[in-house]
Amino acid sequence: MTPPYRAEYIWIDGTVPTSKLRSKTKVIPAGEAPPVWGFDGSSTNQAPGSNSDCVLNPVFVCPDPIRGGDDKLVLCEVLLTDMTPHPSNTRAGCARVAKKFAKHEPWFGIEQEYTFFEGARPMGWPDSGFPAPQGGYYCGVGADEIFGREIVEAHTTACIEAGLAISGTNAEVMPAQWEFQIGPIGPVECSDHLWVARWLLYRVAEDFGVSATLYPKPVRGDWNGAGAHTNFSTNAMRESYAPCEEAAKALGPKHDLHIKQYGYAIEERLTGLHETAHWSQFRWGVSDRGASVRIPWQVARDKKGYIEDRRPNANMDPYTVTRLVTDTICSAFDAKSKPASARKAPAR
Ligand code: ADP
Ligand code: MN
Ligand code: MN
Ligand code: MN
Repeated sequence: MTPPYRAEYIWIDGTVPTSKLRSKTKVIPAGEAPPVWGFDGSSTNQAPGSNSDCVLNPVFVCPDPIRGGDDKLVLCEVLLTDMTPHPSNTRAGCARVAKKFAKHEPWFGIEQEYTFFEGARPMGWPDSGFPAPQGGYYCGVGADEIFGREIVEAHTTACIEAGLAISGTNAEVMPAQWEFQIGPIGPVECSDHLWVARWLLYRVAEDFGVSATLYPKPVRGDWNGAGAHTNFSTNAMRESYAPCEEAAKALGPKHDLHIKQYGYAIEERLTGLHETAHWSQFRWGVSDRGASVRIPWQVARDKKGYIEDRRPNANMDPYTVTRLVTDTICSAFDAKSKPASARKAPAR
């Protein structure tokens, strides 16, 4: 008889102000799909002790590259016991908006930055004082510049073996800070893959005795923060340039709404220094890494492509960010393309 397999059920909890990932293992008979399951919501800030049951509903299943074999990773959304979305479930709103604007074929590519820590210090930093100032670390090579590459390589291999849409990695400006990119794929898919890639990052680093953090400003002072630049396109943007500028402009009037939901402590990171625009201002520009939204130079050259929203923090929720960006830009496109007759009475 074929032995059972292990399914690691992964979900997003209710920790405030930034949700954490949780997971637990279910042993499932060979040949059976991962069923709906449950957990104690009173231990994850998702329910009171007197009524503690929450529901785990599988939404994305992939091979488990840590355990191998027939074992699986099972990303879940959290439901209430009446099978409606739990208040902490931001995926449901993302899926609703993705469906509403599906005709625009929105794609996302997210650049996830993060920092390795050993104990209370970034990995490889001296016990007291600081490493040499920033300048040579970004995309660097050599033991004096690079801390944690063996973990990054193991994580990238794990993401590929899980079948995630990982598209690259690089060492970042601050030593011990790194980035991986997911995409370009649809809003819900990109967010599902990013959450699983984050879980794999923590899990792989655990085996090295290292923790990874998404905190947006892990070291105060003259050190870059950690962001999650969010690249976006629709079918119209992938075909011509005018919609790319229209998309960048459409984000302006909704700046405050977006900033509030782009990750806790965003004002610590978006200071106006270190390749950011100040959190209180909105500005877009071609090739401008000091802007809120950048149109990459090759997009201006090719006269088509995508835009980069540089505002989201590393600790943002991708379901929330991709929902907001899709809603804001696609709503603006729809308002513009409505026939004149739908906006005002036709002239006779
Ligand atoms: P940089 O560091 O220069 O800002 P990266 O190479 O790290 O850029 O990231 C660029 C991101 O843009 C990648 O995640 C890629 O998947 C994404 N991307 C490329 N083309 C598109 C597109 N048409 N729509 C959305 N995202 C895209
Ligand atoms: Mn990048
Ligand atoms: Mn980066
Ligand atoms: Mn970027």
